[in-house]
Amino acid sequence: MENCIFCKIIRGEIPSKKVFEDDRILVIEDITPQAPLHLLLLPKRHFVNSLDMSGEEDGEVGYIFRKGGEIAKQKGFAESGFRLVQNNGAGAGQSVFHAHFHLLAGRAFTWPPG
Ligand code: 5GP
Ligand code: ZN
Repeated sequence: MENCIFCKIIRGEIPSKKVFEDDRILVIEDITPQAPLHLLLLPKRHFVNSLDMSGEEDGEVGYIFRKGGEIAKQKGFAESGFRLVQNNGAGAGQSVFHAHFHLLAGRAFTWPPG
């Protein structure tokens, strides 16, 4: 998508701190971290959120879920626990309308979330 900020990051038009990249996903550090570890896991294919899926994107979503766990473990947070979360719509806190998961770790988390 032409004016999507995450598409621009994926295309390399906006710089980012990359943690992992392959043909399907990009993992970057969040620009405004909300925890000692705060990564964004982006499917390279543009879709908005869970309401904007045709079925073709299911693979990336499953892959991100697994990769999020793998990265959390690599970073030493398997034991302490971590959040892998995703906001659907402005009312739930979504501010960038290109689907993404947040990987948050390194502090205590409350439930229910705010
Ligand atoms: P959302 O609010 O949509 O769930 O999450 C969007 C996230 O993207 C926020 O945590 C915000 O800090 C992050 N973000 C927004 N713009 C940029 C950017 O240009 N670079 C990076 N690395 N993160 C961004
Ligand atoms: Zn996009």
